[in-house]
Amino acid sequence: MADTSGPDSLPAPVFGPDSEEMLRCTRCELRYVPSKSTSSLRLTYCSFLCELGDLGFSIAGLEHMEPQPKAIEPPAVELEPQPTEPATVD
Ligand SMILES: [Zn+2]
Repeated sequence: MADTSGPDSLPAPVFGPDSEEMLRCTRCELRYVPSKSTSSLRLTYCSFLCELGDLGFSIAGLEHMEPQPKAIEPPAVELEPQPTEPATVD
């Protein structure tokens, strides 16, 4: 009699429904799925809030920021109004 009741092979552990590799956020150290990160640096931060908090600015914000053309203004030299006092010369 051959005993065929071998142990079932354990299923490999899956990370999630997408079986996507999860990363750890550099700032808050939460595990997250990069494709669901709202950060531009989705391989580094779990969300743009962490990106914002860590960098002090958001990459997306920079990309959408338009360079402000500097209007060439003449230097605002405020001429002091000359006092029209009569010179008291004796
Ligand atoms: Zn985070």
